[in-house]
Amino acid sequence: MIPFNVPPCVGNEINYIEDAIKGRKISGDGKYTGLCSGWLGEHLGARKILLTTSCTHATEMAAILSGIREGDEVIMPSYTFVSTADAFVLRGAVPVFVDIRPDTMNIDEKLIEQAITPRTKAIVVVHYAGVACEMDTINDIARRHNLAVIEDAAQAVLSTYKGKYLGTIGDYGCYSFHETKNYSMGEGGALVIKNEDMIEPAEIIREKGTNRSKFFRGEIDKYTWVEAGSSYLPSELNAAYLFAQLEKADEIFEDRMRTWNRYKDELSDLEESGSISLPVIPEGCTHNAHMFYIKTKDLDERTRFINHMKEHDILAVFHYVPLHSAPAGRKYGRFAGYDIYTTAESSRLVRLPLYYGMNDDDAGAVIEAVRSFYS
Ligand SMILES: *Cc1c(COP(=O)(O)O)cnc(C)c1O
Repeated sequence: MIPFNVPPCVGNEINYIEDAIKGRKISGDGKYTGLCSGWLGEHLGARKILLTTSCTHATEMAAILSGIREGDEVIMPSYTFVSTADAFVLRGAVPVFVDIRPDTMNIDEKLIEQAITPRTKAIVVVHYAGVACEMDTINDIARRHNLAVIEDAAQAVLSTYKGKYLGTIGDYGCYSFHETKNYSMGEGGALVIKNEDMIEPAEIIREKGTNRSKFFRGEIDKYTWVEAGSSYLPSELNAAYLFAQLEKADEIFEDRMRTWNRYKDELSDLEESGSISLPVIPEGCTHNAHMFYIKTKDLDERTRFINHMKEHDILAVFHYVPLHSAPAGRKYGRFAGYDIYTTAESSRLVRLPLYYGMNDDDAGAVIEAVRSFYS
């Protein structure tokens, strides 16, 4: 069976975990957390990066830091993972879902402004498949209406928009290092903070509402409870795993890109003949080969396609029941405007296996199986 995903492991993970254990520091904010946030800050050109226990938690922190309260409205796409909405619903906010663009599956920036009401506090963008939303337009709308911009960049580590890394363009950026993402620590994530004034509040929320980070830096002589907070810092064991991955970030990137480009090249004639649609990378954007998907004619064809792949021992999967049609989405949120593309496009989309270390024979077998379905 060709799996859909294999968690990446590049070599030094065990050594670094062992080093953390021998250094007698396995809780959070030790050497490896510092190495990871240092690496990320330097490579992404971000002022402040805090490693977190997940992207979901990074998004929760962004919601708290943006001052989201009961009854506030937060604009987001419906075609996304549940965490995008959960973080705001936990604060009592109402997710207001806006339709997506059929080319990138990202929020349609042209529909955002008409969804704004006096209660709107933030726009949450999701860079689906590591491909950027139209950030200039979105930041401009946010500036004119005084809204926070939060980037769910869970899938977009090392992708860019007009030369800037995704996750560093809005007020807050949220990354995931879950085992299904390009760079991994099992469960984990990071929060990028743009506004200098929000760094200290973020450190406090992450450390159970205490000023412990200041204490560790020697800026105060004892630490105490100063605000409402939670525990959002990951263990050094997870950070050690991640650092091994970040050190080999280029290798992981190039390996995934090789498979992605091969899928794109060897399936492009099926796109030209109108049988399928392939991912679109808008001009000015670079992507990180997080995901390769095709779009079938419709839901019925997708079901037959997935079964066909299974018969060839290949796991192809689809995802995201649009949030506005899920039970919690109906309960907590609402759709602004018309669902022209969200449901229709999401029911055509199917992802092909793509992971670090995928061998050429397996990639070839996937391509062969796709081609045999359409022949
Ligand atoms: C994976 C993912 C998340 C959640 O990431 P965790 O680190 O598992 O919390 C959130 N949003 C999107 C778009 C994702 O793909």
